[in-house]
Amino acid sequence: MIKYKLECNDCKFTFDSWFSSSKEFDKLKKINLLNCSQCNSIKIEKSLMSPQVISKIKDSSYLTKDEKKIKLFKNKMREYQKFIKNNFDYVGNNFAYEARSIHYNKKKSKGIYGKASNEDINNLKDEGIEIQNIPWIEDKEN
Ligand SMILES: [Zn+2]
Repeated sequence: MIKYKLECNDCKFTFDSWFSSSKEFDKLKKINLLNCSQCNSIKIEKSLMSPQVISKIKDSSYLTKDEKKIKLFKNKMREYQKFIKNNFDYVGNNFAYEARSIHYNKKKSKGIYGKASNEDINNLKDEGIEIQNIPWIEDKEN
């Protein structure tokens, strides 16, 4: 949603109005659906004030096709992450150490997940340790 400050060219009345996008403003103006609430003039212009955009859009109907795809993907990732969290032990930055101890000590353990540098990952793979690199998204963003 974008809020524009609009100004009537005839009576100089200014008012705020919400649009789903800047395109919507152009469309409404083109078909003369924007009019001044004071004098009914259709000579409405955006005033110079910069538009305000709401960053946290809850209503998904305002999302573009690509944004919807990303949202869908993120939901899938969250399900995947939930599965991993429920079935694997989180070892944080100790991933490389823990992976080695499982591999070399044949320690019975359920799977682990955690953070590792690219160098760690390459070393672990060189040592024949089976690991999977998965993209991870933080939970805090929507
Ligand atoms: Zn007016």
